[in-house]
Amino acid sequence: MPLYPVSYSVDPAQELQKVALERLNDLNTAVWIFDIDFSRVAWANKAAVAIWNAESLDELRARDMSEDMSISVAQRLKQYQEDFITSNASFAEVWTLYPAGVPTTLDVAFKGFRFEDGRVGMWCEAKSQRTDTPEGLRSSEALLHTSVIISLYDGDGCALYCNPAARALQPEGELRLKERFVKAADYENLLSQVALHGGCRRSARMQTAKGIRWHEITARECTDAVTGQSALLLSETDITDLKEAERRAQYLADHDTLTGLPNRNYVQSKLPPKLKAAASIGEKLAFLIIDLDRFKAINDTLGHAAGDELLIQVAARLPAVTGDAGMVARLGGDEFLICLSDVQDRDQIDRFCEKLVQEFQTTFELEGGEFVSTLSIGVSQFPEDGEDLHTLLKYADVALYKAKEEGRNTYSCFNISLRNKIEEQLTLERDLREALKEEQFELFYQPRVDTFTNKILGGEALLRWNHPTRGLLAPGCFIETAEQMGLIVEIGDWVMTRAAIEQHQLEREGFPINISINISPRQFESSNLYSNVLSLQDRTGCNPKRIELEITETTLMSSDKIVTEILSTFKERGFGIAIDDFGTGYSNLAYIQHYPVTSLKIDRSFIANIGTNHAVMKLIMSLCRLLKVKPVAEGVETEEQLNWLQRHDCREFQGYLFSPAVHRNEFVGLLKRQKRIAAAEFRASA
Ligand code: C2E
Ligand code: MG
Ligand code: MG
Repeated sequence: MPLYPVSYSVDPAQELQKVALERLNDLNTAVWIFDIDFSRVAWANKAAVAIWNAESLDELRARDMSEDMSISVAQRLKQYQEDFITSNASFAEVWTLYPAGVPTTLDVAFKGFRFEDGRVGMWCEAKSQRTDTPEGLRSSEALLHTSVIISLYDGDGCALYCNPAARALQPEGELRLKERFVKAADYENLLSQVALHGGCRRSARMQTAKGIRWHEITARECTDAVTGQSALLLSETDITDLKEAERRAQYLADHDTLTGLPNRNYVQSKLPPKLKAAASIGEKLAFLIIDLDRFKAINDTLGHAAGDELLIQVAARLPAVTGDAGMVARLGGDEFLICLSDVQDRDQIDRFCEKLVQEFQTTFELEGGEFVSTLSIGVSQFPEDGEDLHTLLKYADVALYKAKEEGRNTYSCFNISLRNKIEEQLTLERDLREALKEEQFELFYQPRVDTFTNKILGGEALLRWNHPTRGLLAPGCFIETAEQMGLIVEIGDWVMTRAAIEQHQLEREGFPINISINISPRQFESSNLYSNVLSLQDRTGCNPKRIELEITETTLMSSDKIVTEILSTFKERGFGIAIDDFGTGYSNLAYIQHYPVTSLKIDRSFIANIGTNHAVMKLIMSLCRLLKVKPVAEGVETEEQLNWLQRHDCREFQGYLFSPAVHRNEFVGLLKRQKRIAAAEFRASA
């Protein structure tokens, strides 16, 4: 026996390596080392060479596995490689290999293997050949390849199993299930739902290797097949893109595309909950509806692009003034809303409105120069003026209307008397629509009389409303509202047609007199007026030469060449054109010559003060003579006024001195009586 210590000629460690290699080679278990970086088998024992269906180890080594490898398998291998490096992980999975195209399913255990050069490959051991049913094989394959994230957790929330998709998303370090949820409440909610119903489905924000993502999670209670303990099975899909698309769609629905401000939709959906919350804590709010004073003019003169630019600049200026004090939205057109939060007192609102009005005294730079666009503001307060959004916006609108009436460039706060006014207005609006439907309107006629002979030359058709409860109403009670509502267009059409029919009837009854019809400025904005007038003769049988259309100075001043062209066409067709209430508007005598006018109706305010208006009246008369326009005096009530008109050769008048506006039958009665007198005089003189 040699004595210890001895020296060995061959190092036993080297010998051991050789023996180990031989043993490995002889093992029934297939063992191979896979070089992930080059997609090649680096080494394999005999059993593995056989499984891979290779002629020899060299032939197997020569194979480029990447040729048959799907992208998902390649990604998975890379993932494994990272796992080996970072956490020395080992896995067991069911693999299906395709040596020479023949599927072979194996239970494979694998772990990292470090090559001499430091790179990490994969040590694989095929534990056994699987003899599963085809369904079993396919389902385990599906589990490996699916992009659905599948994981199983034990009662403490520790992962028992993660499929490759789940492992790929696992952030660094093993996270317990609870830590994967961004909001702990989502996790607790999920657990309580599972406890209640055995499973649940919800979306939540999750921590993943790609950062925070939205996952749709289906959770189900189950039993772990290995331990028999109860476990939680989760399948998750990434729905971040969907959530983002949803968020974007919601943003677009809630925001105005031109200015980027919240829109009416946003206001309708977000403010009612805000009101509720404010009510619960006693917070006061103020609602400011803001309207630009010169927007229409800028839009009309500079074009829509400049109009849009102005709105964009306004949309930037409003939030700059408001800051954190409230929310700014665009309600539509040139109308904006500011909802001020946490309002302490009325003074605060006044100061804010004054500041806002002040800020809009400075110019906006638009293409074509610098422009001032002041604003008018209507304010309502919560909870004083109303408790719901609809009421608050309506009342802010009423107050805005008042600010406009007060000359614009100012603000006005809602109050009760304004509310009463608006309620009357609303009732009137409703009744007016009803009146049109129920034919409650009728025409009265006021005689137009020869100043020298008292002979009736014509009649002005004046609208009356047979109100079912209020009795007979003169236009002063409703015409302005009808104008504001635009209902005057329909009413005006009715008046024109009715008056034309009656002119025709009067002519047939032997009274060839002139009928004058009032046309409101709003009717000129409607596209129907032109065709309605031109078709009047065909529709009613009237004689255009016996019809005079009364327009106001506003119609002439507010409009452009188109009005002149329309009026010229009417005149060519034989209609007379009168300027009504002359002297109440711009009173610019010079401009009349530019329009095809036949009569000038001098407003009754001039006639009433004829003594003091002496000089102006004389000027009007001489101008009429010069332009060959017939002057007609309105509102003549006294002999004195009549005498003046006679002395100054004004040949036609209207007024209570002769007759107020009367019912058609009475008007015809006047005409008949006049005819009888004339006939008697004729007989007497004959
Ligand atoms: P207008 O066209 O200037 O009509 C004359 C108004 O003066 C009538 O009032 C008439 O009754 C009133 N009047 C006539 N003579 C005298 C007088 O001697 N003294 C006084 N104080 N008043 C006199 P009415 O019928 O109440 O109509 C008021 C206004 O309503 C009309 O003024 C006209 O602008 C408008 N209007 C009436 N009917 C229509 C219509 O069918 N369409 C439109 N657009 N407006 C109408
Ligand atoms: Mg008139
Ligand atoms: Mg008049």
